[in-house]
Amino acid sequence: MGIADGKRLADYGLSSERLLMEGKGPGAFEQEVAQLEQAVLATTLDKAVSWAQTHSMWPDTFGLACCAIEMMAVTGPRYDLARFGMEAFRNSPRQADLLIVSGRVSHKMAPPLRQIYDQMLEPKWVIAMGVCASSGGMFANYAVLQGVDRIVPVDLYVPGCPPRPEGLMEGIIRLHERVIAGVPPAYEMNERIC
Ligand code: SF4
Repeated sequence: MGIADGKRLADYGLSSERLLMEGKGPGAFEQEVAQLEQAVLATTLDKAVSWAQTHSMWPDTFGLACCAIEMMAVTGPRYDLARFGMEAFRNSPRQADLLIVSGRVSHKMAPPLRQIYDQMLEPKWVIAMGVCASSGGMFANYAVLQGVDRIVPVDLYVPGCPPRPEGLMEGIIRLHERVIAGVPPAYEMNERIC
């Protein structure tokens, strides 16, 4: 079942099409989210909580390599992450609920990264930013982890080397849409699959 003819994403409570190509139809992922939203029985309280979560999703202050520079840019006035209540990068993982893995993860760095993830309170989300975090990228060698999803559950992958700040913003907005649509965090999905 897809999105009904004549309907737009806005009819399903989704809003990313305003950022994407105006006049184009929804992509496969957006159709799936819309179907999921129809299937999930969400109470008004659930929706209110989801809305609050998306407007106060505080990222952990954590950068690994060149991608981190692009991540920092989203907090500046040009991209203004504060529009989403997200400019407060937290220095303690206990106060953060979003981990943006921005850069390649060396094997040496993998245990601290996992420790930071474990110290974050639930619900929590992970964005793998860039090809290095997503798959090791061009660093196909013994020193670099070939994808951060080997050690933490990833909710969303942002492609590119490096992804521009707009790409990260798009990823963040997609993640917000998932949360509002009632899609559980990746660690919960993995538990259900296992
Ligand atoms: S994806 Fe590109 S910019 Fe990002 S950490 Fe890897 S090499 Fe650097």
